[in-house]
Amino acid sequence: MLFDANLATVAYIGAAILFILSLGGLSHPETARRGNLYGIVGMTIAVLATVLGPRVTAAGIPWIVGALVVGGAIGLYAAKRVQMTQMPELVALMHSLVGLAACLVGFASYVDTSVAYTAAEKAVHEVEIYIGVFIGAVTFSGSIVAFGKLSGKIGGKPLLLPARHWLNLAGVLATVWFGIAFVGAGVEAGVVPLGIMTVIALLLGIHMVMAIGGADMPVVVSMLNSYSGWAAAATGFMLSNDLLIVTGALVGSSGAILSYIMCRAMNRSFVSVIAGGFGTGTAPAAAGGAAQPQGEVQAVSAVETAEMLRSSKNVVIVPGYGMAVAQAQHTVYEITKFLREKGVNVRFAIHPVAGRMPGHMNVLLAEAKVPYDIVLEMDEINDDFPDTDVSMVIGANDIVNPAAQEDPTSPIAGMPVLQVWNAKTSIVMKRSMASGYAGVDNPLFYKENNRMLFGDAKKMLDEVLVALKS
Ligand code: NDP
Repeated sequence: MLFDANLATVAYIGAAILFILSLGGLSHPETARRGNLYGIVGMTIAVLATVLGPRVTAAGIPWIVGALVVGGAIGLYAAKRVQMTQMPELVALMHSLVGLAACLVGFASYVDTSVAYTAAEKAVHEVEIYIGVFIGAVTFSGSIVAFGKLSGKIGGKPLLLPARHWLNLAGVLATVWFGIAFVGAGVEAGVVPLGIMTVIALLLGIHMVMAIGGADMPVVVSMLNSYSGWAAAATGFMLSNDLLIVTGALVGSSGAILSYIMCRAMNRSFVSVIAGGFGTGTAPAAAGGAAQPQGEVQAVSAVETAEMLRSSKNVVIVPGYGMAVAQAQHTVYEITKFLREKGVNVRFAIHPVAGRMPGHMNVLLAEAKVPYDIVLEMDEINDDFPDTDVSMVIGANDIVNPAAQEDPTSPIAGMPVLQVWNAKTSIVMKRSMASGYAGVDNPLFYKENNRMLFGDAKKMLDEVLVALKS
């Protein structure tokens, strides 16, 4: 034992401070690397203080080291193999693991008879276990479904069972009922209500996320992020580990704030998103599916696009999920650099739900070294489109869909969007007429002042760059 109880407490406080600094750093691309570093150092201290601390016996160390090696190897392999575009799914999968861990720890600490509790302590401990397993199970199954939806393995269309709100209510009431039967029952009798509740919680998690339409997935992603934090905090209570409680609460509350920001960005109320069913409307297609085209579109070539860009004074680039798929950010930066050197004012407009995870576009643009001062949030730039010569939409669709403002029956009605059509000319770069994640047709494509540049974003931008330079 290298860390006695006092030293372990000091190490935990140090780690908690580092986690807070880490969250602070992650709030801006410029400080994100440093934030990540704080997180890594904090987690290393936390793991060392726990493994080498007073509560782990020498006999347990080989097990822990074995688990660390296996888990670390899987993590390293996944991190090396995963494409940037698969990041959102990976994050969802990670959340599911936190939920699973909470469930397993709950069951393990329930059947563990090595710790003797007084009557009151025992009741509190059982409530902690029950709540922890519940949150863990909802997080686990919900995150698995979110993983399926984000990776396209499960369609984005919401599953709307008849009387779904009643089903949810019945699930919650049954959970309370079995909770009453669980607390105070002996270990053998208590496992039954705990097991039944776990199944109900798993079903609730599946049902909750299945009922949410493609357009509302950003809120679900941030919400599951928050749940995973609360699941970790619950695990901390079960294990009487203060650091886990603090860390879980940090993740839980920052995820809750993120969910709030996402809801505001999409003009949705949190409760109605959770209750499910948004993103439904009359949407004809599932995520990524093709909606029926309506009207004529005007296609342009890369050379014509280069011509329009060259003769512009103000250009706004709107990146979306397709830029991530095509990995076009570096060419986007090359074009930006070229145009700026020629005196064109080029700026980027970032929608809060662009891509498939919060901050997705900021990460890609930072990776390509686009200067932060020309990357603007939706609210900062939306009013500037009337003074813009060309708005160039790169692999974005839902976030520039005028139907959100013009068609009250649209599944994305009410969601604020980037008003690229107010520019003199808008150019949309995508491969086909397919709809975006929300499965909604986009009237922007048929507007008088809109041009379509069909093709893979990276390939077309390479051609635009060649044409610009020639
Ligand atoms: P969308 O999914 O609406 O549209 C992306 C477009 O990119 C598609 O229409 C596709 O058209 C095009 N595309 C795909 N691959 C390429 C390629 N290689 N080259 C060129 N174009 C390509 O993305 P947006 O960013 O506009 O909107 C994000 C959507 O995702 C919103 O509905 C949001 O709610 C949802 N979402 C966001 C999350 C977040 O946290 N940010 C999380 C979960 C969901 P085509 O196939 O014709 O090329």
